[in-house]
Amino acid sequence: MPELPEVETTLRGISNGILHKKIKSFDCRDRSLRWPIPKNMSSFLKNENFESAYRRGKYIILNLANKKGSVLIHLGMSGKLRISPNLKQPVKHEHWDINFADGWTLRYTDIRKFGALLKTKQDPANHVLIKNLGPEPLGNGFNGEYLFKKSRKRTLPIKNFIMDSKIVVGVGNIYANEALFMAGIRPTRKSGSISRAKYDLLSRSIVMTLKEAIEAGGTTLRDYTNAKEAPGYFKKELKVYDRAGEPCLTCGKALKEIRQSNRQTVYCTNCQS
Ligand SMILES: [Zn+2]
Repeated sequence: MPELPEVETTLRGISNGILHKKIKSFDCRDRSLRWPIPKNMSSFLKNENFESAYRRGKYIILNLANKKGSVLIHLGMSGKLRISPNLKQPVKHEHWDINFADGWTLRYTDIRKFGALLKTKQDPANHVLIKNLGPEPLGNGFNGEYLFKKSRKRTLPIKNFIMDSKIVVGVGNIYANEALFMAGIRPTRKSGSISRAKYDLLSRSIVMTLKEAIEAGGTTLRDYTNAKEAPGYFKKELKVYDRAGEPCLTCGKALKEIRQSNRQTVYCTNCQS
């Protein structure tokens, strides 16, 4: 599943190819993503151009010039975006294209169809899918003090707490496991019982884990594109995720696997408390 680092890498990969270019047409071959693609998307985009692009959580937001509106893209479970001047005829699962006047195309592929393509004429920050999101982990509002304050009196396990997008966006399962190992915190600990000092450590661990993944982004994306290599993307860098039963890289004890909210949790019973 594309997580924050993959979305950030995708954004960086497509930005140069799509900004400040006249949009010639929008081709939709299948509207039925997680939410239906609006029927008037074609007229909304035609003859306009994107003047800026950014990421908010796992959404890619493309703003049209002259405040004409914005497009929201979510990659869901299996979505991919490609930008190219010479794409072949679309095949199955290639649901939509934005065609630019210079011959380039932005193409969306999504086998499981949990992704989204939506539009808004208002400030995207006020969109119903965006407005309740917590701060960006790589932004200014995110630190140990913030997590500490938000967690007081909470009994939610710390792993679920940091994966809640209302608390902080973009900490997916892999990165939650890795950051908790780095900070030495057991994933089942009640979030309200963790000290301010530990939250300082955890917030820095989250930032470091995500930045490392973004820096490895080229590799991540390539492996991710090649589904046959799954679940191998970024794997060589991972210290606990998908390593249950293998020795802890710090102390050598076998890593333990449990399920939390039906997601894989792996941790070291010796190093994480
Ligand atoms: Zn250990």
